[in-house]
Amino acid sequence: MKVIREAPLWKMEQECTGKGHGGYGCTALLEIEESDLYLTSTYDFEGDMEQHFTIKCPCCNIETDLSRNDIPDRVIIKLLEGKSKKLKKQQEMR
Ligand SMILES: [Zn+2]
Repeated sequence: MKVIREAPLWKMEQECTGKGHGGYGCTALLEIEESDLYLTSTYDFEGDMEQHFTIKCPCCNIETDLSRNDIPDRVIIKLLEGKSKKLKKQQEMR
């Protein structure tokens, strides 16, 4: 098969706001790629886990949660798959 056009690299701009992590980001404007995102999770009052897509600002080292709506599904799926792969590896090592 011939690839006519590869999937374009996903990028977005995000201000460092510290959202979800205290809210005291340095307000730097960051260009984010797929590889800059990672998953963090919190638990609500009822103990339900909530997953967040998080970046860490290189200027102030404060984390900011992105809005899920800003991230395309394919990027989210990749992240979730990567996470379950890691879990599998840990289980195999036991
Ligand atoms: Zn910052």
